[in-house]
Amino acid sequence: MENYKEVIECVYDDLKHINDTGKVADYIPELAFVDSNNFGISITTIDKQNFGVGDFEKKFSIQSVSKILSLTLAYKFEGAKLWDRVDVEPSGNPFNSLLQLEADFGKPRNPFINAGAIVICDVLVSHLKNPKKEFLEFCREISNNQNINYNEKVAESEKTSGFRNVALCNFIKSFGNIKNDVDDVLDFYFHICSIEMTCKELSEIFLFLTDDQYTNKKGESILTESQAKRINAIMLTCGFYDESGEFAFRVGLPGKSGVGGGIVAIHPDEYCITVWSPKLNKKGNSYKGMLFLEKFTTKTASSIF
Ligand code: GLN
Repeated sequence: MENYKEVIECVYDDLKHINDTGKVADYIPELAFVDSNNFGISITTIDKQNFGVGDFEKKFSIQSVSKILSLTLAYKFEGAKLWDRVDVEPSGNPFNSLLQLEADFGKPRNPFINAGAIVICDVLVSHLKNPKKEFLEFCREISNNQNINYNEKVAESEKTSGFRNVALCNFIKSFGNIKNDVDDVLDFYFHICSIEMTCKELSEIFLFLTDDQYTNKKGESILTESQAKRINAIMLTCGFYDESGEFAFRVGLPGKSGVGGGIVAIHPDEYCITVWSPKLNKKGNSYKGMLFLEKFTTKTASSIF
């Protein structure tokens, strides 16, 4: 941990005042109100030591980082059958693209693009009596943290502006790969995207994707070892949409971003690290977040390769 701390402090100081060429997401109006200068980092090692700098204890909109949590719960329910509904191939396209769905007969390329995450939400709506309530309970239980909530304003803001997601959901339903009412599925999708967490909380909740940490506080396993490895594999190949190759190339860890500016990355043998900086690059990933992680894994020589 001492080496990680030193490197985090040093890279944080180097990047704090750089000229960030990114832009805060404003296609969801409520997200545009965030202070773009926020910058926080938190690491939790597999022996549960934690260290953070900057705005690591401020809540922010985790957006697509929540897609790891929804995938985890759906995978628990369905096992390998899940892959009949959603594929595990990188899409090489933007996160909100409709392009490939027609040729692929409504089967999304992977669970981390919006199309795939909407199908995952449909799976969860089929399994859960009260999806919004039970999904929050799942997140709270696996992290032993009762302080995880939706932001209703953000969910509502996306509901009124999320035309592409409405289109995706209807289009997939036309192929029969959405079983429930589209309004119910979208309401659930917009809510899980609106979850707010801090960098510290995120670096703790995803410890179940590191080796030997798959259990909750009661000692029950969250995923099997094979399932956890597979989620890491999808994060590595699909976690950053059409920039997934770039992230693997520069950072070398499984990871997942969200348009709130958060990035979570896992070193399966060592730690979970989270960075938050709201300005996004052209592909919708945090500009400074990616740069930070590139420098961090380089200086600590801790990529998975
Ligand atoms: N809620 C956002 C959307 O559906 C999530 C996208 C993201 O974080 N990449 O557009």
